[in-house]
Amino acid sequence: MCGIVGYIGTRTAYPILIKGLQRLEYRGYDSAGIALMDNGNASLYKCKGKVRDLENLVSGQNIAGTIGIGHTRWATHGLPNDVNAHPHKSMNGKFILVHNGIIENYASIKKMLTKNGYKFQSETDTEVLVNLIENIYLEEKVSAETAVQTALRMVVGAYGIVVICLDEPDKLIASRKSSPLVIGCGEGEYFLASDATPITEYTDRVLYLNDEEIAVVSTNGISLKNLNNEAKELVISRLNLSIESFDKGNFPHYMLKEIHEQSTTIADSFRGRINNDMTQIMLGGINEVIPRIAKAKRIVIVACGTSYHAGLVGEYLFETFARQQVEVEYASEFRYRDPIIEEDDVVIAISQSGETADTLAAIRMAKEKGALILGICNVVGSSIARETHAGVYTHAGPEIGVASTKAFTAQVIILTMMAYLIGKRRGFISDETYHSLIEQVLEIPDKIKEILKDEDHIKEISQKYVEATNAIYLGRGFLYPVALEGALKLKEISYIHAEGYPAAEMKHGPIALIDDKMPVFVLGTKDKYYEKIVSNIQEVKARKGKVIAVVTQGDTTIKHLADDVIEIPEIDESLSPILSVIPLQLISYYIAVMRGCNVDQPRNLAKSVTVE
Ligand code: GLU
Repeated sequence: MCGIVGYIGTRTAYPILIKGLQRLEYRGYDSAGIALMDNGNASLYKCKGKVRDLENLVSGQNIAGTIGIGHTRWATHGLPNDVNAHPHKSMNGKFILVHNGIIENYASIKKMLTKNGYKFQSETDTEVLVNLIENIYLEEKVSAETAVQTALRMVVGAYGIVVICLDEPDKLIASRKSSPLVIGCGEGEYFLASDATPITEYTDRVLYLNDEEIAVVSTNGISLKNLNNEAKELVISRLNLSIESFDKGNFPHYMLKEIHEQSTTIADSFRGRINNDMTQIMLGGINEVIPRIAKAKRIVIVACGTSYHAGLVGEYLFETFARQQVEVEYASEFRYRDPIIEEDDVVIAISQSGETADTLAAIRMAKEKGALILGICNVVGSSIARETHAGVYTHAGPEIGVASTKAFTAQVIILTMMAYLIGKRRGFISDETYHSLIEQVLEIPDKIKEILKDEDHIKEISQKYVEATNAIYLGRGFLYPVALEGALKLKEISYIHAEGYPAAEMKHGPIALIDDKMPVFVLGTKDKYYEKIVSNIQEVKARKGKVIAVVTQGDTTIKHLADDVIEIPEIDESLSPILSVIPLQLISYYIAVMRGCNVDQPRNLAKSVTVE
């Protein structure tokens, strides 16, 4: 969600900042802006729209300066327009600031500043913060760093900020709370960003800021303190990302590339985690806490969006194989409900970015209550990954498409391996079954390749439903969460209203919607629910609905009933979510493309939801 970049060094800042903003475009935003410092003078450019609109605006203007900050905004307070776009300048022109997040107590601070004579140009909470900093700076006659520290102690909410002070023009001041900020360290130059993506091409040495830390960055180095002015240790980490992983390759969209990558990303997720004779699963990140997980009375999975659907698959997995009680919670509901959490509970947070604001807040709360907190994240070094007691990285590589695909299947395979591992330890899985399940995990990449060979057929099916206004997705058991995920994929990128349901629930309401125009996507692979799902298909057909079914290779019964079928290879039912979601991802993709939608950056959506 929204993006921050900053540069300080000896090169011209502008191209580095623009490239950085382009690298962050995948996060989703509505306006962009940039501020450049040249010999103590600032140039500020900002506008509604995309980074290319900003480039058009800047074209032919002064772009000199070796220090600068940039921003892509995802509006929370005030419309996406030129005035509300960042950077924001303080009223007396002393400070320029970019901000990700929300200043929750902006209204009371604004009132106080208004009394002090401040006037505001924009509707944003951000302009309140930059004026607060200036007000403190002018009234208390302190350094820019102290003014920022003091202001941030007064603020309630979430922020990642980078600040320029016009009186101290040789430095950038950066701080964060519940919104990520990373500083890339080069030779006499520094790259600031809200995630490591724009930094990768310059350096692999990074400093992840922690909450309420403040960094003053100049060409001479970084000084790091907390908001009470106590010095903090600089911990430099190594990034392990390649630039190629940020390119589309030969694919027209990141989403299609990422759908195709799943045969390799799944292999990356289990690589090194299964021993050679296929008798053991080893998850190094949780190794030390396995006894505690195995003893847990209850497992609570917290997540949002697609990760929540992966969590629901996790519920079926842990109950089936480990015979443990599982609850899956939307992080936003969980955190505000004062939930009952015991010390022998295990809370698993799932988040692709590892920065999801609600999920982060949920684990902080659960941590305070003494539960063991585990993370399943894709982004290495992300806030959730750092704040959990233990966890497993999904290793799916950077996911740029806003609609999650490869991160979902990676999350599910990690949950699957965890459930098998804990189930084995608790004595609910025999050696023979364990071995067979592991063997089937290893077969997934080839089976995904087989499904992808059917892409032209899936594209033809998609063509038939381009004009649909509604769609229903049905599944049972392990495939019920896949029905939810299929519906979410369709609505988020094609803007077709879609609902996922447990197939038997259809009779309790959605069946009223079925007519000869309604596409009903049914997950009907051979599992213990097969006969039941066949009956559900009959019920849809009796009302003239159009059935598109995902079935197991060689199926004949559903083939005779459905309008279209997509075959997927046979696999244990616990692994079928990973295979059966792939045709649904492709259908959403093709329908959205055929409808002329911006697949990689769907309207109103952001990749990493760092505000509540
Ligand atoms: N709350 C700020 C605004 O609405 C920042 C939003 C963002 O994170 O981009 O301008």
